[in-house]
Amino acid sequence: MRTQVGIVGAGPAGLLLSHLLHLRGIDSVVLEARSREYVEQRVRAGVLEQGTVDVLNEAGVGARMSAEGLPHHGIELRYGGAGHRIPFERLVPGRAITVYGQQEVVKDLIARRLADGGKILFDVPDVVPHSLEADPYLTFQGERLDCDVIAGCDGFHGVCRPSIPDGVLSIFQRDYPFAWLGILAQVPPSAEELIYSRGDRGFALHSMRSPEISRFYLQVPPDASLDDWPDERIWAELRARLETVPGFALTEGPIISRDLSAMRSFVAEPMRYGRLYLAGDAAHIVPPTGAKGLNLAVADVRVLTEALAGLYATGSTELLDAYSATCLKRVWRAQHFSWWMTTLLHTFDTDDPYGRRLQTSHLDYVTSSEAAATTLAENYVGLPFDFGAPRD
Ligand SMILES: Cc1cc2nc3c(=O)[nH]c(=O)nc-3n(C[C@H](O)[C@H](O)[C@H](O)COP(=O)(O)OP(=O)(O)OC[C@H]3O[C@@H](n4cnc5c(N)ncnc54)[C@H](O)[C@@H]3O)c2cc1C
Repeated sequence: MRTQVGIVGAGPAGLLLSHLLHLRGIDSVVLEARSREYVEQRVRAGVLEQGTVDVLNEAGVGARMSAEGLPHHGIELRYGGAGHRIPFERLVPGRAITVYGQQEVVKDLIARRLADGGKILFDVPDVVPHSLEADPYLTFQGERLDCDVIAGCDGFHGVCRPSIPDGVLSIFQRDYPFAWLGILAQVPPSAEELIYSRGDRGFALHSMRSPEISRFYLQVPPDASLDDWPDERIWAELRARLETVPGFALTEGPIISRDLSAMRSFVAEPMRYGRLYLAGDAAHIVPPTGAKGLNLAVADVRVLTEALAGLYATGSTELLDAYSATCLKRVWRAQHFSWWMTTLLHTFDTDDPYGRRLQTSHLDYVTSSEAAATTLAENYVGLPFDFGAPRD
């Protein structure tokens, strides 16, 4: 088999890349280790930045998102017995987030690729990238796929990043001393907006996926097991961490899915080796507190599409050569924001009274200063794709 771009991974990065390339007349094949059912059911992100929404709409895959997604114009920071709203509509006019499950984005992209005649091969667990410096190709299940370029969109545990020779990549990493227990509950949200709650028992997040389905997260020890968390314990802990302001009561109901996620910051630089380009979680991970991972994946493949379109239109490798540096500017901004939100809102084993006072002081600043609140708001809804130029 031969294609122009061989894409490893049918997550948001790989699927959107394949679709954007198709719109530019560039051929690709997507190889995915898991089944279609599995990737369409995998519950993960749910907060889409304004720029992500714009990209999906402009690419013609936003119809269901526009109909079913929930636009949000603020979030609440809850601590010290009070809730404080960060009003996006006032701080960053015209920009908002949309709550729409990552698995719904994945379903929409798969449906559209297949309707357009795109090639996605599911259940291909044995992909191996070869000859990354020139004439690259992928092997799997006795087949060989030759391509001009390989796009490594295979997530943090994929095969593409490890196929880069030792010594090429610089790794920047931080592991946090806690994990997130996430649940989906068949119950209407208890509030209209997301609530980020910080307290002495640890962090909790109230979120949602639809008017009927709530999503909650609890900070838990890094070695926690789902067996330690029967339903009653989860609800009791959510109540203890979220019912901390007068008049707020959690609506409880059946838990329909649960998962544990490690909390990690990670960047591999550069995001390229020879003809292999890494995009999304294959190159970088952020703790989910800032809701940036999926959005960064979208931003990467937007840049990669332009660069590949430039290559095929003019033969110029200028944009491809700049791909890693262009993406990393946004990646590092999101790294800082995600780290900052995480350290602002969680409890740490190493916390001493001084550290807790600093955290409270910082929260007080964010909730009382227009400038500080705007910093949170503009990062949360997502900076424009062309951010980074000096202001004067
Ligand atoms: C609990 C949680 C909450 C989150 N919340 C948010 C949020 O609110 N907002 C946000 O923006 N982000 C969030 N994220 C992060 C977001 O889910 C990821 O950043 C996003 O999935 C990255 O997309 P991707 O396509 O790069 O990688 P993935 O979604 O990981 O996709 C990679 C694909 O490659 C496949 N694959 C792996 N190895 C191979 C192989 N060897 N061969 C072939 N295929 C392979 C995988 O099966 C997978 O389908 C959250 C993550 C978690 C865990």
